[in-house]
Amino acid sequence: MHLAAFCPRCAAPLADKIPELDNRPRRVCTACAFVVYVNPKIAAGTVPVRDGRIALIRRGIEPSRGLWSWPCGYVEIDETVEEAAIRETREESGLVVRLGAMLGIYSYPATGGAGPTPTSGLVVVSWATTSVEGDLVAGDDAVDAAWFEVSKIPWMGLAFDSSRRALTDFLRATSSAPSPRGPSA
Ligand SMILES: [Zn+2]
Repeated sequence: MHLAAFCPRCAAPLADKIPELDNRPRRVCTACAFVVYVNPKIAAGTVPVRDGRIALIRRGIEPSRGLWSWPCGYVEIDETVEEAAIRETREESGLVVRLGAMLGIYSYPATGGAGPTPTSGLVVVSWATTSVEGDLVAGDDAVDAAWFEVSKIPWMGLAFDSSRRALTDFLRATSSAPSPRGPSA
């Protein structure tokens, strides 16, 4: 995990220290005692569905460049996770969605300690959609975007573990839900 070297408040060096009333070492400023808490990043997105098909985007940047995912990105500091999910979906796919049921929260604690390619800790939140408007286009960070029949989801070409988990949860939720077309469907 990347650990800050200097205080973001006064630029003095930070040191590992257990703050008062805390129970684990933090990065603490040696001059002003500011504590730099290291917490997971939060990402939010949606699994857009229209006419029984799912919109996926193909990533144009690392990590997982060239692989498929539902639209998702980091929550900005001044928005809710719901707002982030809607914004990221619009930016990455061109689709304007309304959020439906939450599909899941997928948590990835940091691993790798201070190694050269550590992960930073991540929490991914995904929603189903109740309405999807607009034309599907490959937006920010994407090189392609396409509608997939459920039977054609590219399971072997998905970008992230959370990509797979949310789609699995989506299929589980839709298969157990009453058919919207009634008993004859
Ligand atoms: Zn300081």
